Amino acid sequence: MKLILLGAPGAGKGTVAKQLTKIDGSVQISTGDILRGAVRAGTDLGKEADGYMTRGDLVPDSLIMGIMEERLQEDDCKSGFLLDGFPRTIPQAEELTVLLEKLGIKLDMAVNIDVPRDVIFDRLCTRRTCENPDCQEIYNIKSMPPKKEGICDKCGSPIVQRADETEEAIGHRLDTYNEKTAPVAGFYEKAGLLKTITGTSSDIVVAGVKKELGI
Ligand code: ADP
Ligand code: ZN
Repeated sequence: MKLILLGAPGAGKGTVAKQLTKIDGSVQISTGDILRGAVRAGTDLGKEADGYMTRGDLVPDSLIMGIMEERLQEDDCKSGFLLDGFPRTIPQAEELTVLLEKLGIKLDMAVNIDVPRDVIFDRLCTRRTCENPDCQEIYNIKSMPPKKEGICDKCGSPIVQRADETEEAIGHRLDTYNEKTAPVAGFYEKAGLLKTITGTSSDIVVAGVKKELGI
């Protein structure tokens, strides 16, 4: 499947994407994970992105488009991909349309995961992430704690609160989302590709996607 996952930070894009990869081997492409990996590795891209990310601002469109142009041409994308956290602005959506046309790739659908703002805020404050850049498994200290406190079930690395998951940065990320990213849903609605699924559980969202794709 070739899908875009839209929705506020904390809507569950990453969790839904991971569940969908298990259905048909499509790969999850998370721009947030790629950027955090670059920051940890100290690459030029990471150095440039770091400040924006810590503040809860979007990194410049030009940086993201460079990453995605390369990533979408890698072999593992041939069987399908789930775009998680991209496109996040109207210019990114417009450039993605051009890029996909150039690469001869047709999207199945843009899924808008709709979750109430109070649920989102609460979730982000209690979210924890495995600090191992190759893992980045997500936990929630209230609803999905690791078996051993503070330690990733999958790889044994410490789980930490992300630098952009302070209350202040979370508020700013949600404002940025409303201003810059929410309009992207309208873009895909006009293109006839949007499907909005309301639900606070990833199982409901995954079931909705499968139904829509007829799988
Ligand atoms: P969340 O969806 O929970 O905000 P992500 O992991 O998707 O978290 O993104 C973390 C940060 O990475 C964002 O706040 C932003 O700074 C940057 N980022 C990720 N994807 C994009 C994108 N497509 N365009 C601009 N910035 C991005
Ligand atoms: Zn881990």
